[in-house]
Amino acid sequence: MSERIFLSPPHMSGKEQTYIQEAFDSNYIAPLGPLVNRFEQSIKEFTGVPYALATINATSALHLALRVLEIQKDDIVLCSSFTFIGSVSSVLYQNATPYFIDAQEKSWNLSPELLQRAIMNAPRPPKALILTHLYGQCANIEKIALICKTNNIFLIEDAAESLGATFKNQQSGTFGDLGVYSFNGNKILSTSGGGMLVSHNEAYIQRAGFLSTQAKEDFPYYEHTEIGYNYRMSNVLAAIGVAQMEVLQKRVDKCREIFSWYEEELSNIEEIGFMPELPHSIGNRWLTTLTFEKTDPTTIRLALEEENIESRPLWKPMHLQPLFKDALHIENGVSQKLFETGLCLPSGTQLERADIKHICTLIKKVIHG
Ligand SMILES: *Cc1c(COP(=O)(O)O)cnc(C)c1O
Repeated sequence: MSERIFLSPPHMSGKEQTYIQEAFDSNYIAPLGPLVNRFEQSIKEFTGVPYALATINATSALHLALRVLEIQKDDIVLCSSFTFIGSVSSVLYQNATPYFIDAQEKSWNLSPELLQRAIMNAPRPPKALILTHLYGQCANIEKIALICKTNNIFLIEDAAESLGATFKNQQSGTFGDLGVYSFNGNKILSTSGGGMLVSHNEAYIQRAGFLSTQAKEDFPYYEHTEIGYNYRMSNVLAAIGVAQMEVLQKRVDKCREIFSWYEEELSNIEEIGFMPELPHSIGNRWLTTLTFEKTDPTTIRLALEEENIESRPLWKPMHLQPLFKDALHIENGVSQKLFETGLCLPSGTQLERADIKHICTLIKKVIHG
């Protein structure tokens, strides 16, 4: 059997070992350290945001964001429903109340219209919105940021999947009060595990830094007045991040090229739809995602699996999760339909034109019988 084609495996640049060696040579085998600072610096330079904090993953960075904004028990936090659980689990960590909002067809991301309605219908004024930029495509961030501002709602951007994506030339993750990126093994860049919290507000990042290192008060001994976490990134993993950031634009360009190869092969098939891109938005096309109007995507997924090719259904919306069966939500059927008809295709940046052709030939075989 041929070598397995994964959905989105890590893709090292080759420089990682050099920086890891630096960590070892300096014996900074610890959280914090010069490479953590350098990794944060490279994110600041790339995104144009002045403050950044590297964390163990994006889920913890989102938790810090809620803590920084003082989201507490029973506060309503609006959330994209069409997303990954890591986007919203911090709302439960805080015993706050999630309120899930469905997607719009033209971006697959949170619907600004439903957001307006959710704010009007909410039993209490919502405190914050966690907005996902899905599969590396920007949500309608301009409109959504304005709605948040008008209604005094903090905006947290979950840009875990969208590092390198832009809206009107501004990086995703930089529009809100706080933004979050992920460097998990499956993301466009990987440090095996890792996250980054960014903000234009220095006090927010300082506060997050305090909370992420066990909330130690400024005393010679360990003095604590509130609960913190152990959420800081290791200097060794930051070494990987420094090397990965050097190839970020290259990875974005390759993901977009892979998307265009799929499009060339499949866009003449009437029942296939590709994830759309809003005007003024350039996504990173982290994963190429499609929908099938007639064919059951499970048939396609299993046919690919037989050839040792990994594909995956789209995210199951949060408002359809057993965990959130009683949660507040506003739905329009869009994300449910996407979940039922969609599929993520292999999008790893090591893939070649011939791999995509091979995958598409298999898909066409299923569709045309
Ligand atoms: C991956 C992901 C997360 C969680 O990232 P981790 O770094 O694995 O904690 C959160 N939100 C979205 C949308 C994601 O895709």
